[in-house]
Amino acid sequence: MPAYSLTTLTGGKMSIDPAVVDALATQLRGSVLDMSDAGYDDARSIWNGMIDRRPGLIIRCGAATDVVRAVRFASDHGLLVSVRGGGHGIAGNAVCDGGLMIDLSQMKSVHVDAAAQRARVEPGATLAEVDKATQAAGLIVPTGINSTTGIAGLTLGGGFGWITRKFGLTLDNLESVEIVTADGELRRASESENPDLFWALRGGGGNFGVVTAFEFRLHKFGPEVLSGLVVHPLGDAEGVLKEYRAALEVAPDELTCWAVMRKAPPLPFLPEQWHGKEVLILAMCYCGDIAEGEKATARLRAIGKPIADVVGPAPFTAWQQAFDPLLTEGARNYWKSHDFTELSDAAINILIGAVRGLPGPECEIFLGHVGGAAGRVDAASTAFPQRSSHFVMNVHARWREQSMDHDCISWARELFEATRPLSAGTAYINFMPSDEVGRVREAYGASYQRLAVLKQRYDPSNLFRMNQNVTPITSTKAA
Ligand SMILES: Cc1cc2nc3c(=O)[nH]c(=O)nc-3n(C[C@H](O)[C@H](O)[C@H](O)COP(=O)(O)OP(=O)(O)OC[C@H]3O[C@@H](n4cnc5c(N)ncnc54)[C@H](O)[C@@H]3O)c2cc1C
Repeated sequence: MPAYSLTTLTGGKMSIDPAVVDALATQLRGSVLDMSDAGYDDARSIWNGMIDRRPGLIIRCGAATDVVRAVRFASDHGLLVSVRGGGHGIAGNAVCDGGLMIDLSQMKSVHVDAAAQRARVEPGATLAEVDKATQAAGLIVPTGINSTTGIAGLTLGGGFGWITRKFGLTLDNLESVEIVTADGELRRASESENPDLFWALRGGGGNFGVVTAFEFRLHKFGPEVLSGLVVHPLGDAEGVLKEYRAALEVAPDELTCWAVMRKAPPLPFLPEQWHGKEVLILAMCYCGDIAEGEKATARLRAIGKPIADVVGPAPFTAWQQAFDPLLTEGARNYWKSHDFTELSDAAINILIGAVRGLPGPECEIFLGHVGGAAGRVDAASTAFPQRSSHFVMNVHARWREQSMDHDCISWARELFEATRPLSAGTAYINFMPSDEVGRVREAYGASYQRLAVLKQRYDPSNLFRMNQNVTPITSTKAA
C-alpha cells in the first residue's frame, strides 16, 4: 500500500507509512478509516449538506484513551486536525480536508446518577440521547431545540433552548469536563481543578482540546410541559411581534417563546390554503405546573387572530423533537446570526420585509428567546460573553439545489447587514458560518483576550484551529 499523504497544520503534505497507521490502529478500542474503507463516507458526512470534505484519515474513537492516541499522533506529525461530536456545526469544522478527523460520534454513553443529580455524558451523544437518559430518572439538563444536535459542540459554545430561562445555558450546568489537551494529556477541569481551563471551556468552543466527558448538574423536571405553536398570517406580524415583545418583557423564567417566520410547512393542523404561505409562528413552552402555564401563556395566545393554536400538555422529550422534521440533515444550509438586547420596531420591520422576500420554502428566521436565569450569570464567570441579550436571531437559509446557493446566501447576508446596527455586537459562536473568521474576536467581546492568553497556555501551536478560532497570544498586552 502506498504511503498516506496527509495535510499538515501549515497546509503542506506529510507522508506517513501505512505500517505506522496500522500500528496505531492496533492500539485503539475504536478504528481508523481511510478513503478506501466502507464507512468512510458516512463518517465524513455531517448535518450541513454544503460541507463535502475528505479527511486523509478518520480515527473513530471508542474511548478516551483513543482520543489521547489520536491527539498525540496528530501533534507528533503536525497534522491538520478536526474534531467531530454530533456533526451539527453549521461551519462544518468537524471535517477537514486531507488531515486527521477525530470522530467522537461512537462515544455515546450517558450515565445518570439520580441520587447525586449528575450525568456523565460522552461527547458523541445527541440531545435526544441525553434527554432520554435524564428524563428516565425525572431529571433534566437544559440543551437546545433540535434533538439530533450533538451535546459536545452545543455545550462548548453555549447551549440554549426551551428551559434555558429557567435553568441557564447548558454550559452553566457543567460541573466538570474531561479533556485531552494539545500536549496529549487527559485532564480534568472544574471550579477547583484547572479553573482557568474550565472557564475557557464554557464558551470557548473546540479551541482547548478534545472533550471526552462532560459532567452535568441535573434538575428535577417533567415529564410534561405546556408547549406548542400559535400560527399567525405574516400580514399580522407587525402587531403580533410588538405584543409578543411586550408580553416577554414580563414573562416568568418558566416561559420561553421563540418566533419563527417562514413559509408554512404542510403541518396537519394548518388549513391547506395556508400551506406554502408566509406565516409567523410563536413556539412556546412553559416548564412548570401545567395550570400555571395556561395562565402564563394566555397573553401570548390572545394576540391577534391566529390561524391555529396547538398549545397543550406534552411530554418534554416529545416537544424537544417537535422541530426535528424541519431540520433533517443533508440540506444545504447557511446561517447568519445576531444577538439583540431588545427587539426594536425597526428590527421588526426589517425582519418582516425579509420574510416577504424568502428565497425558498425552507428558509426561515428564528428569534430565540433567552434571558432569565442565563441572563443573571456574571458575564465574567465563563467565557460565554453575552448575558444581556433577550433574543438571538438566526437567519436560516436552507435549500436543496446548488443552483440556489447564490440567492439563498445573499438573502441571509443582506438581512444580517440590515439588522447589524440594531444588534448587540456579540454573536453566538455556534450559529456562525465558516466565512466569519474575522468576526470571532467581536463575537467573544470582553472574553476574547483571556481566551487568547489561555489558548497560548494550552494550545500554543494552535493544533485545534478548526473551530471559531482564538489565536494564541503571549500576554494580554499583545491582544
Ligand atoms: C438543526 C440545528 C439546530 C440547532 N439548535 C440549537 C439550539 O436550539 N440551541 C443551541 O444552543 N444551538 C443549536 N444549534 C447549534 C449547535 O449548538 C452547534 O451546531 C453545535 O456546534 C453542534 O454541536 P455538534 O457536536 O453536533 O457539532 P460538531 O459539528 O460535531 O462540532 C462543532 C464543533 O465543536 C467542536 N467540538 C465538537 N465536539 C467536541 C469535543 N468533544 N471536544 C472539543 N471540541 C468539540 C469542534 O470545534 C467542532 O468543529 C443547532 C444546530 C443545528 C444544525
